[in-house]
Amino acid sequence: MKATITHIKADIGSLPGHTTVYGPVVEAVRKYVKEKGESLLSDFHISYVGDDIQITMVHNKGVDCPEIHELAWNAFKSGTDLARKVGLYGAGQDLLKDSFSGNIKGMGPGIAEMEITPRKSEPFIVYMMDKTEPGAFNYPIFKMFADPYNTPGLVIDSNMHDGFIFEIWDIVEAKRIFLSAPEHMYDILGMIGSKGRYVIKRVHTKPNHEKLPDENVAVITTDKLSFIAGEYVGKDDPAGIVRIQSGLPASGEAMEAFSHPYLVSGWMRGSFNGPLMPVAMKDAKMTRFDGPPRVVGLGFVLKDGKLAGPVDMFDDPAFDGARRTAVKVVDYLRRMGPFEPHRVPEEDMEYTTLPRVLEKYKGQFEAVPDIQKKKKEVKLSTKDVD
Ligand SMILES: [Mg+2]
Repeated sequence: MKATITHIKADIGSLPGHTTVYGPVVEAVRKYVKEKGESLLSDFHISYVGDDIQITMVHNKGVDCPEIHELAWNAFKSGTDLARKVGLYGAGQDLLKDSFSGNIKGMGPGIAEMEITPRKSEPFIVYMMDKTEPGAFNYPIFKMFADPYNTPGLVIDSNMHDGFIFEIWDIVEAKRIFLSAPEHMYDILGMIGSKGRYVIKRVHTKPNHEKLPDENVAVITTDKLSFIAGEYVGKDDPAGIVRIQSGLPASGEAMEAFSHPYLVSGWMRGSFNGPLMPVAMKDAKMTRFDGPPRVVGLGFVLKDGKLAGPVDMFDDPAFDGARRTAVKVVDYLRRMGPFEPHRVPEEDMEYTTLPRVLEKYKGQFEAVPDIQKKKKEVKLSTKDVD
């Protein structure tokens, strides 16, 4: 029998700024899901990272189920009531619409869900990031499912040897493409290296996979708040579900992908590049320059609709080195202040408050006689680049 894992997250208020969630609000969300979800869910788990509350749910109603989405929406609503009462910062900030309308997509909260055929043992890890964007998952997901230096299973496990299919979304054009690795590996990288535009939405097994033919094995939230609201209203902090073991990356291969604190965009005011630091949930408090961006990983096993776990996966001294490197990178980058590439490129500042600040100079620029205006259109080069 199929099972559905639905993960929905939202920032509904934090303290003192965007640092962390408030315990009683997390409890209010938990209480709502427990009481109202009793007949809908077979199990659930509430967690948090930084200022985001995370609801992981298991049920058998398939993806895009209105009742499940509404349950999460109303749970966040009930948490928001308390957040407003105690004056939390940004109370209800990710709930962009007034009332629920059938599907939580496009309403503010981030959602990742997959319908699966559970194996005898169904282990998976939920990764949750704060102070960054959906494209922050491109690097580790590629490493897990396509890089043999990270995942030796791609070389030595016959079940993984044929590789995987990547579903990549162009979130600017609202289009998607399915590309197969290793065959189209370089094209995949050509796209997902532009993490602000191309994001890995899902990973699928190939039809000839011995244990899991045609299955969705990883899914990531891709909700871009600024595209929904038309302006910067908070960070699009993503979460992802990754199934592991038996023909998929081993637990350690999935974790290894985070051992290098690679640079992501987000951090302070959603406007700065910084290292993604893997931490235990207890350390997911964003205090230094509202960061640095962090990732928490919770490991579960699913059986007959029930969850065992979670294990707080980065709560391990083996990741101390990655954390130390991250702090060194923070020290280095912070000295750049408002300069790029610490600050994100100008086109990404479009949704921030900077255009408003510079508005007053709009009519004051005068033409410079010696330079020509650069045309916006770019022609594809047919020449080789040395
Ligand atoms: Mg957040």
